[in-house]
Amino acid sequence: MSLSGQHIVNAGAAESALEKPILESIAVSKHFHSEAGLFQRKKPPVQAVNEVSLAVRRGETLALVGESGSGKSTLGRVLLNLLKPTAGDVIYEGRNLGNLPADKLRQVRRDLQIIFQDPFASLNPRMSVESIIGEPIWLHRDDSRSARQDKVAELLRTVGLAPEHGSRFPHEFSGGQRQRIGIARALASEPRLILGDEPVSALDVSVQAQVVNLLEDLKHQFGLTLLIVAHGLAVIRHMSDRVAVMYLGEIVELAPVNALFETPFHPYTQALMAAVPVSHPDLRRPRPLLGGDMPSPSKPPSGCRFHTRCPHAKPLCREVKPLFDTVEPGRQVACHYWREIANAGAGSLIVPTPSAAYSQRLNLFKSHQALSLESQP
Ligand code: SF4
Repeated sequence: MSLSGQHIVNAGAAESALEKPILESIAVSKHFHSEAGLFQRKKPPVQAVNEVSLAVRRGETLALVGESGSGKSTLGRVLLNLLKPTAGDVIYEGRNLGNLPADKLRQVRRDLQIIFQDPFASLNPRMSVESIIGEPIWLHRDDSRSARQDKVAELLRTVGLAPEHGSRFPHEFSGGQRQRIGIARALASEPRLILGDEPVSALDVSVQAQVVNLLEDLKHQFGLTLLIVAHGLAVIRHMSDRVAVMYLGEIVELAPVNALFETPFHPYTQALMAAVPVSHPDLRRPRPLLGGDMPSPSKPPSGCRFHTRCPHAKPLCREVKPLFDTVEPGRQVACHYWREIANAGAGSLIVPTPSAAYSQRLNLFKSHQALSLESQP
């Protein structure tokens, strides 16, 4: 019934023999150890990411979603080689990043770029916009100063700013404009994959759509692969091809975006979906399925890590860790009882149900329409 995390990669490889993953993690873990004081007992390590295997396909937008503390940002940084994994391998274009010499790693750094969450903190306030965007060009290419200035002007135009903005400083811009500067900086080294670490969550709602659309346009224009870390499911639905749902350092469900939103199989994914507000006051969501806080990643629960909050937990869940089960090609879920939960119709709970008041008004509207039609000559 179950497949191991390793099989995600194998299943992915079988499906996409033609499209080899651009970036993949193989049983990657990242644990943070803290130093104990002189008279303190040694603390257990924080298990931010635990044995995650994931393949990012060339040209896709893959979203990593989960609550705060689920390990999605840490996994993104490990995939970009910004953090060294405690265990496991990260493979970029068939090369293991753990074994690459420094000069080859420099090339990889150029190919893998990041857009940070906070456009206010991620830009150096003492540097002009031209210096901020021009720095990666200076680091990775031998362009002359004038060629660099031309390139910065072109990048500013590409992200919807004016070349004259190059002489200004970050504090002179709004949040959305700063994020555009961050995107231009990420594009400066001509990357192949960009990690967006919650790229719009710090922005006003009105600006979020603009930045999401810009990222989508740039993806097509430059043939980029996007890895988006987010907790906003609306953003994910709009811009991603596949979604990996993370809970307490592990991936619990991996699926194409439409399939995931139509029928989430894992109880945690269902709970995340149930928490999404609906757009009509008369439509109802079911009661949130998720109770309590996420357990400490220093002391994760035994068996299924979600069992302390899962409404479907059974004794087996406390004892045995569920491994990945292939639901259909391209879809995996880590739950002992996903079939039973799906058969019981728990997934359909995410479909908004009209309230009595809404049904009444809908019927009134329909009868009014019928009367108007009848009264027509
Ligand atoms: Fe819930 Fe058990 Fe499935 Fe974990 S394995 S999600 S506890 S039903």
